[in-house]
Amino acid sequence: MKNLSKNKTGLQENYDAIVVGSGYGAGTSASRLSRMGLRVAVLERGQEILPGNFPKTLGDGLESFQADLGFTKLGNETALFDLHTNKGISVLVGCGIGGTSLINGNVMLHPDDRVFDTEFWPAALRKDRKDGLQEGYRRAEAMLTPATYPDDVKLAKLDAFRKSAKALGAEVVLPPINVTFEDRTEGNIPGMVQPACTLCGDCCSGCNVGSKNTIPMNYLPDAVDHGAEIFAGIQVHHIERDGDNWLIFYRDLDDDADGADLRTLSAPIVTLGAGTLGSTEILLRSKENGLDLSDQLGKGFSGNGDVIAFGYNCDEQVDAVGVGHPPIVDKAPVGPVIAGLIDLRDTENLDDGMVIQEGAIPSVLGPALPELMAGTGTFFGKDTDHGIRDFFAEKGRMLKSFALGAYTGSVNATMTYLVMAHDGSDGEMHLENDKLKIDWEDAGKRPVFQNISDTLKKATAALGGTYVDNPAWSKMLGRNLVSVHPLGGCSMGDNAENGTIDHKCRVFTGNSDEVHQGLYVCDGSALPRSLGVNPALTITAITERAMMLFALDYDRQFDTGISEKRQIRYASPDNDSV
Ligand SMILES: Cc1cc2nc3c(=O)[nH]c(=O)nc-3n(C[C@H](O)[C@H](O)[C@H](O)COP(=O)(O)OP(=O)(O)OC[C@H]3O[C@@H](n4cnc5c(N)ncnc54)[C@H](O)[C@@H]3O)c2cc1C
Ligand code: SF4
Repeated sequence: MKNLSKNKTGLQENYDAIVVGSGYGAGTSASRLSRMGLRVAVLERGQEILPGNFPKTLGDGLESFQADLGFTKLGNETALFDLHTNKGISVLVGCGIGGTSLINGNVMLHPDDRVFDTEFWPAALRKDRKDGLQEGYRRAEAMLTPATYPDDVKLAKLDAFRKSAKALGAEVVLPPINVTFEDRTEGNIPGMVQPACTLCGDCCSGCNVGSKNTIPMNYLPDAVDHGAEIFAGIQVHHIERDGDNWLIFYRDLDDDADGADLRTLSAPIVTLGAGTLGSTEILLRSKENGLDLSDQLGKGFSGNGDVIAFGYNCDEQVDAVGVGHPPIVDKAPVGPVIAGLIDLRDTENLDDGMVIQEGAIPSVLGPALPELMAGTGTFFGKDTDHGIRDFFAEKGRMLKSFALGAYTGSVNATMTYLVMAHDGSDGEMHLENDKLKIDWEDAGKRPVFQNISDTLKKATAALGGTYVDNPAWSKMLGRNLVSVHPLGGCSMGDNAENGTIDHKCRVFTGNSDEVHQGLYVCDGSALPRSLGVNPALTITAITERAMMLFALDYDRQFDTGISEKRQIRYASPDNDSV
């Protein structure tokens, strides 16, 4: 596959529209705005990584990691995995052309219908949810092409997960996931030809096969085919109004040192799609630089009720450590990182519902897992079964993992659980030393998280494993949460008294329902509450809807089908034809 991004020497001073970021919201905006005939530039802080170049070893994984620990920063600021630690909650997001789609678990679920009944959402969106929003979902699914795991090859992790489900009085269903399971020889809407998934399990460290339907496989090539220019290594700092234009102040991360004078670009239309943390940070800085914005900016943060936990050293094989591509071991297929779902949302009270998904750990972490899992299991775990025979079997499996590695013994018998639920959505973000910080101390002490922990303990007991919560959530470490689904901060509302943007994703000036001309936020930060399911599909649907309304407001038209501008591209690393 060839690069989608251009050399920065090609950057022009002015565009019709500038899109910041390149994930679900930004990619969707870039495709739709360029299909409307606008000259679009996409500015992304991360680098472009093509299939075949995602991390393959523990060393690659460490090099691809950056962390903001509050007191210090680790790693390169364009590294793929971007961890933010904060008071009460840490957040992991992606950084690169394609945003967090590069490292996510592919699941594309609609939220419970009752989520949109709640008054968190602007009245206009609630009213339009059976029409405009449904059309947004339809368009998103046509581009992202999710499919369920065909279940033609037996996966040990699914079999084990079915036992966990039974113990909870539920069943495993196969959720739609953004994975191509059969060779796609004709190409998708923008013409991407993709090879079939090899079931390597490495989706969360980046797909080296080209089968994962990330944003560089659909919306971004579509935008490029319609004239959009994508630039990597550009970090937007803030924006200012300049007559009819917006001035974008940015750093070229390949050239400019931190603290160097900022460069500028301009456009009459700007869409911020830098993700929940990125867009909120840019607008908070813009506010500090004099832009009139709602006082709600930064409020309404949610971690989507996320919990990650493990059933360690179970009594059966789970085969849930990725094998990479090309595979580093010859063993049974792992499957896509998430293939199964236990849906526990049918509760009387919406906020009591949750979904549980099973996961696979990427191969890059394999060498560290025997010690890591044994350490966390011993210090933070709770064994769910007892007896002398079981004790020796467990110790034997641990020794086997120490001696022979992650594909045997206790690590190979470990189930990863991922949960999404509802967490109150009332966290706050602010700037500290010009960097975004989340303030949400004690959120992890809410009853919902104990309830999730109790449920997962039951799920683990069905497999005879040691239940291990996220260690940061232990009592000793102060009940800190970890989220991979940050939402809110530039939340939608009816007006500036209860939101930062309106239902069309236009940014409020702070004065009632007045909006800034040409300024949009389209990404996870726009969502005013937890969804209780993986949010990427809804972020895309809401952006699709915003783009339909944009076209109406600006008297522009666009279609969403196969266009005559489509180029055939090959996602496989073995084929670099355009
Ligand atoms: C491990 C993991 C698993 C996940 N699994 C799933 C799943 O199965 N299903 C699901 O629905 N969701 C999943 N998610 C979450 C999902 O991927 C995100 O919710 C989604 O990608 C958010 O989309 P977005 O458009 O808001 O922003 P993102 O996709 O995060 O994109 C934002 C982009 O903006 C860039 N950016 C940030 N700041 C700046 C700046 N100042 N200047 C320029 N660029 C900037 C970032 O580098 C990034 O590329 C997962 C996330 C992770 C980490
Ligand atoms: S399982 Fe492997 S081949 Fe399939 S989508 Fe995930 S990373 Fe790609």
